[in-house]
Amino acid sequence: MPIFNGGCLCGQVRIAVRGEPKRVGICHCTDCRQESGSAFTYFAVWPAEQFETRGETKEHSGRSFCSRCGSRVFSANAGDAEIKLGCLYDAPTSLAPTYELWVKRRETWLSPITGAEQFDEDRS
Ligand SMILES: [Zn+2]
Ligand SMILES: [Zn+2]
Repeated sequence: MPIFNGGCLCGQVRIAVRGEPKRVGICHCTDCRQESGSAFTYFAVWPAEQFETRGETKEHSGRSFCSRCGSRVFSANAGDAEIKLGCLYDAPTSLAPTYELWVKRRETWLSPITGAEQFDEDRS
């Protein structure tokens, strides 16, 4: 079973997830743009019981970030843990997006990801 390890920029928060994720996505929505300061977020969802974290985080609207450096690392809700894949130590990862959300907010200079299901807004 694969184990994916990651953490925040300053190293205070560490995360680990076991096994393959349930799904891997990209989101171009306004909230994801603002929380990341970038054009989109790249994440995967695991069952919460396959997820571990240590270090002190703070939270805004269910989105957890390092209380020291502010890196976004995960969201945990409804039995799932959504991990921001940019926090993984090994890059590039083996995790390719299978869907894209809020493609109506995608920058015009970005192309759709080949083979990924496209959603104008959230998953229907
Ligand atoms: Zn940090
Ligand atoms: Zn989003």
